[in-house]
Amino acid sequence: MTSLNNILEKAEQTHTLDKDELIILLNSDGKALCESANKIRQKYIGDEVHLRGLIEFSNICKCSCKYCGLRSPNQKADRYRLEPDEIIEYAKKGVSLGYKTVVLQSGEDTYFSVDKMCYIISEIKKNDIAVTLSIGEKTKEEYKAYKKSGADRYLLRIETTDKELYKKMHPNMSYENRVECLYNLKDIGYEVGTGCLVGLPEQTIDSIAEDILFFKDINADMIGIGPFIPHPETPLKSELNPQNFDIALKAMAATRLLLPDINIPATTAMETINPMGRIIALNSGANVVMPNILDSDYKKKYEIYPNKICLNEHSGKCRNCIEAKIKSIGRFVSENKGFRKHII
Ligand code: SAH
Repeated sequence: MTSLNNILEKAEQTHTLDKDELIILLNSDGKALCESANKIRQKYIGDEVHLRGLIEFSNICKCSCKYCGLRSPNQKADRYRLEPDEIIEYAKKGVSLGYKTVVLQSGEDTYFSVDKMCYIISEIKKNDIAVTLSIGEKTKEEYKAYKKSGADRYLLRIETTDKELYKKMHPNMSYENRVECLYNLKDIGYEVGTGCLVGLPEQTIDSIAEDILFFKDINADMIGIGPFIPHPETPLKSELNPQNFDIALKAMAATRLLLPDINIPATTAMETINPMGRIIALNSGANVVMPNILDSDYKKKYEIYPNKICLNEHSGKCRNCIEAKIKSIGRFVSENKGFRKHII
């Protein structure tokens, strides 16, 4: 047996690997790794795919993350924010389209005070639907208030666990604070999602292996891994690495092996750089897709990276299109809210 097969066998049985073993997986061609992740997904999760309806409710952001098109120094971004009642209306549309979860995502927009967010969350929770927040770093008290209003889950990617790189990518932010936010969210009782970008300049395979060990260590309930896609109005506009898709896919598959029962999205960024990206991801360990439920104008303006998919599609059509793709690979759309099942 090759050492690659030994490592995969160990991962399938014990769901633990050390850093050197992860590096071997990340440096492999990915074929056996993705097959193994698909097998483990089938064993622990089965064939159901959870859809989460994404509402990107504001692209106004006080941060300056080097990779992100929404960064505040980008004066070319056409800024918008939805009012609380519009957000609630979109969530209701999500309910009528059959979604069991809505994800409220935005830039770090201070207009949305705790009171406003709590109003939005509690109104949406009057419907039978789970609410995920993805609105950045807040205080523990704020996270508690959202939870009390009914929020179920929170997404906050660590982006990279390489502290030097983190510092370069995130002016005026602190790695330690981001980690603390994740522990606070766990402590309060959210299902916690984190994840990383793959392909940031100077990022190494070694540091991606560390990212995966971090996901295991924090025992995340959801992990989103996306290829970095350069945005023309950012300092990283020329940093395209064509390998980003493959490495992101391998990192996602390795994450499935270590955390077999968690929720892992086939990310939109994967489909943006590979027309089959989400199907390939669903066949390599992913079990979640997050279609957008906004109208076209807003979708276009929420430009974290360029050439986002399905920009002109009507949200009902997106829902049907993704369902057809899911069925085409022998999988089916889940009827439940899709919380982590905690099998191990
Ligand atoms: N303000 C929120 C939401 C950020 S946008 C927060 O801080 O959590 C959601 C995710 O988009 C980010 O976590 C980041 O990983 C991803 N993203 C941003 N710019 C990107 C780019 N250029 N290419 C790929 N993904 C990007």
